[in-house]
Amino acid sequence: MLPPRQQQGSGLTGSDGRFAPSPTGPLHLGNLRTALLAWLFARSEGARFLVRVEDLDRSRVRPGVEEAQLLDLRVLGLDWDGPVVRQSGRMELYEGAIATLDSDGLLYPCYCTRAEIRAAASAPHGISASDRYPGTCRELTTAQRVERGAARRPPALRVRSDGARMTFEDRLLGRFEEEVDDFVVRRNDGTPAYQLAVVVDDAAQGIGEVVRGADLAESTPRQILLARLLGLPEPVYAHVPLVLGPDRRRLAKRHGAVTLSDRAALGEGPEDVRAWMARSLGLARVGETPSPDDLISRFDPERLPREPTLWSPESEV
Ligand SMILES: [Zn+2]
Repeated sequence: MLPPRQQQGSGLTGSDGRFAPSPTGPLHLGNLRTALLAWLFARSEGARFLVRVEDLDRSRVRPGVEEAQLLDLRVLGLDWDGPVVRQSGRMELYEGAIATLDSDGLLYPCYCTRAEIRAAASAPHGISASDRYPGTCRELTTAQRVERGAARRPPALRVRSDGARMTFEDRLLGRFEEEVDDFVVRRNDGTPAYQLAVVVDDAAQGIGEVVRGADLAESTPRQILLARLLGLPEPVYAHVPLVLGPDRRRLAKRHGAVTLSDRAALGEGPEDVRAWMARSLGLARVGETPSPDDLISRFDPERLPREPTLWSPESEV
C-alpha cells in the first residue's frame, strides 16, 4: 500500500523516516539515541515516522525481544505511524526484486565459502578489505556452475556491480564515495540479504530520509546501486554519530548498564535516559528533563555533533 503522501503528491516528500531494529537483543543507549534522532528528523519536519522490524535472519531472532524494543520506544515517548512492519512477512516483495534483477541478467550464483572469500581477498591482487568479494564466480561457465552446484552447498546470488563507483551526499558526514563490489542479494540459505530488503522496503514504504547509525554508512553505496538497478527512488541519508564504550568500540552489553531496564535497576527512569541523550546531542542542559515535544522544538540537524559520544559505566544518565 502506498503511503498517503505519495498518493497525493508527485513522489517522495524527502522527509518520511523510519527506525528499523533487528529483534536479536535489547536496544542499548546507542540504538535508542539513534531511534530518537530518526524520530526527531521526521517529526520536526511534520513527516511520518515508521517502525520496521528487520527479522529476516530467523536464526538470530529471539522471542520477546521485538515487544521489549517497541516498549522501550514507547516509554521514551517516541510514537510512530501505522502498524509495525515485519520483514519476515514481506518475502514476496524481496523475491520479486530478486527476480527482476535476475531477468535483467544482473545476478550470478556464487559457491564460495566465507573462508574462501577471505583467502582470495587477502591474496596479493591489490584487494585489501576482507569483506569485498574478489569476483571468483563471476565468469563461471554453465558447465562449471553445474559441477559446483552438484559438489557443494547451494549458491548465494550476487549482483554484477561492474565496478560502479557510487557517491552520495550525507546530511551529516558530507560527501561519500566508494566502489561497489559484487555483493550478495540472496544468501545461500535462500534468505534475501539485508542490503536488498532495506532498499525494497524503504522504497515501498515511501521513506524519503534514512537516518541511522554511522556504522551503516558503508552499506549505503551498495544500497544506492540496488535502488538504481531496480529503478527505485533514492532516499536522502543522514548517518548519525554512534555512542561508544570506554574502549572506543560500539556500545554493547559488555560495557555495563546500557539498556533501559539496566538503568531502571539503578533507579533511573526513561525521562532520565531521554535527558542524557538530549544532553549528549546538545539539546539539553544538565539538570533539565526535556519532553519529546521540547526536543522537537529544539532540534536542528545542522547543530548536531558530528563526533561519537563516549559513554562510560560511571556515566550518570
Ligand atoms: Zn563465489
